[in-house]
Amino acid sequence: MSSQVSTEVVTEVVAAPLEQRADLLEFDRKELGAELAEKFGFEAFRSRQLISWLYRRRVRSFDSMTDISKDAREQLEANYFVSRPKIEEVQQSKDGTRKYLFRLADGNLIESVLIKQATRYTLCVSSQVGCAIACKFCRTGLMGLTRNLKTSEIIGQVLAVKDDVASLPDDEDGISANFGNIVFMGMGEPLHNFENVSRSVRLLNDDLGLDISERKITVSTSGLVPAIEKFGQGEARANLAVSLNATTDEVRTKLIPINKKWPLELLLKTLREYPLKPGRKITFEYVMLAGVNDTREDLGRLKRIVQDIPSKINLIPYNSNAGLGFETPSKDKVYSWQHSLLDAGLNSTIRWSKGNDIDAACGQLATESSKEKGSSKKKISKKE
Ligand code: SAH
Ligand code: SF4
Repeated sequence: MSSQVSTEVVTEVVAAPLEQRADLLEFDRKELGAELAEKFGFEAFRSRQLISWLYRRRVRSFDSMTDISKDAREQLEANYFVSRPKIEEVQQSKDGTRKYLFRLADGNLIESVLIKQATRYTLCVSSQVGCAIACKFCRTGLMGLTRNLKTSEIIGQVLAVKDDVASLPDDEDGISANFGNIVFMGMGEPLHNFENVSRSVRLLNDDLGLDISERKITVSTSGLVPAIEKFGQGEARANLAVSLNATTDEVRTKLIPINKKWPLELLLKTLREYPLKPGRKITFEYVMLAGVNDTREDLGRLKRIVQDIPSKINLIPYNSNAGLGFETPSKDKVYSWQHSLLDAGLNSTIRWSKGNDIDAACGQLATESSKEKGSSKKKISKKE
């Protein structure tokens, strides 16, 4: 379009006010294609190019997207932005685990944990600010729920941590190269934030973007039965982990109040019918609380409960949270459970805590008052 008879220069692209611009990280590939086609008549290949720039190359400035035409870049610049949660603080544990504190655009705080394992790194992401489930042993549960995270805030944790490790002066451990596993086991109940977690998983899966296979993504739930069924039917591809944590309704309801609504038998029936691909397994997480759920009878019931579900059992010795009134069982007890499960032909692993010295282990994540943090811990620069 050329300017008509006028002394003014007519620009084709009218920039939307900043607050009206949309975050490109809120769309999966299909949605992005539809959005750009509808609003600007962009062809489908544009969304493929964008996914690659946004997630593979982690580029945030439209100027740098050199294979996209200048006109299209101007349209994008005028109407969209690419967010990142701000890294407020990084704490490094003695065992190599890094805990990230993020400040979101509205001031809320969340945490992600990059866990060092033998040959790889696993990133544990949050799905909510706080959590509504209120499990009695979990520090996040004490916070209550402030709000769900947006898709951009979930996927933004992955992108921001990737940015951070790529900027470390020495990457001798090959963090960037090996970091591949993503677990939804940070703050929040992922299936309570169903749409945004599912969209984030689809974005992680996208072969033009982060391209993380379903084997390397795990969504962990406290047992929301209808949402588990829906997740099994959806397009997001990830492993399912279920926090079992008890073998009787009486104990489970005390520990995880939603068990009253969706008791064990119903949960197990749902899992028996869960559409698993051949060779795939459901992970049962079992937080071991001394004297509460680790009796000989519990072990017997656990074996019976899981035996007809393709599964593995991940024993998690309780990570201590001051004031919650639980104790960690002895190492001998944890090993004896594992041996007994293995002897019964059941796949079983132990998740020894990581990052305990910086409160980064399972169930230890919490941000004070969600908006302000009066941490007494020494702040460690992200470059150290
Ligand atoms: N809300 C989801 C995912 C986040 S919690 C869920 O509950 O599954 C991730 C795991 O940490 C869950 O298996 C939970 O049972 C476990 N967990 C919570 N508090 C813990 C604690 N203090 N010690 C050990 N594991 C804990
Ligand atoms: Fe929420 Fe999971 Fe903690 Fe329970 S264990 S309160 S579901 S984060």
